[in-house]
Amino acid sequence: MAKQQDLPNIDCLEETRKLLRENFLADSRPWVIAYSGGKDSTLVLQLVYEMLLTLTPEQQKPVHIISSDTRVEAPNIEEYLQNSLIQLEQHAQTSRLDLAVHLVKPEIEESFWSLIIGKGYPPPNRWFRWCTTKLKIKPVRKVIDDITSGYGSVILLIGTRKAERSNRSRQIESRQYNSRGLNQHSEIPNALVLQPIMHWSTDDVWEYLFTHNPAPWNFDHDRMLALYRQANSGECPVITDLDTPSCGGSRFGCWTCTVVKEDKSMKGFIETGDEWNMAGA
Ligand code: SF4
Repeated sequence: MAKQQDLPNIDCLEETRKLLRENFLADSRPWVIAYSGGKDSTLVLQLVYEMLLTLTPEQQKPVHIISSDTRVEAPNIEEYLQNSLIQLEQHAQTSRLDLAVHLVKPEIEESFWSLIIGKGYPPPNRWFRWCTTKLKIKPVRKVIDDITSGYGSVILLIGTRKAERSNRSRQIESRQYNSRGLNQHSEIPNALVLQPIMHWSTDDVWEYLFTHNPAPWNFDHDRMLALYRQANSGECPVITDLDTPSCGGSRFGCWTCTVVKEDKSMKGFIETGDEWNMAGA
């Protein structure tokens, strides 16, 4: 049990819990959580999952977890994410939650190597970053569009924070929010966006994950913490629109990435002795 002084800013935590609960119970729209396996989206997922466990069966409604696999992810990140999703799905079933997990990938003909070797695309670069749309946005959008067409409208939860980056912070500030803290998605009709940890500091995020470990779906955060330590870097988020800054600068990203000058996370993994077997990859 975490001690009071170990917990993140208590107002921030209580406000976030209240925001989540009130929004969840306010209507019947399904929720879609963009989960990359990184710290911010893990925190969002954990706070939502903790709330779901407190609700009665009558208060439950569909919650979809969407994660993205570009088919060229760093193998250790891919393995971590897959294991987390398996554990999450199993625990949700046992707990009788209405929760579905989607690990989306680009179609083979739209995958990195098919486009480079088969269609002659240049390796992605800062000026022609086709990878974000082809490998990430398109597969994620297909699932969100399918869910939206089934229900008419969805609420999309993302883990963006003001403190994270100045350009992201400016985007957050320029959006129009309704009284429930929702804003219209810039590219997906009928999708409203909720950013429940918008005001959390980076220290608050780590503090919560450290003091609430393992996650309630019985998944240890230790592996994620170790990956961050090794990579000395940030995560590549699940991207749903072109407004979201891509993963070129701070990232656990594709091992093939040619957008960054130096793949700091991969360098960190190698320097700290992380190993994986590429057989079957
Ligand atoms: S990690 Fe690099 S190659 Fe992969 S989607 Fe991001 S920018 Fe593109």
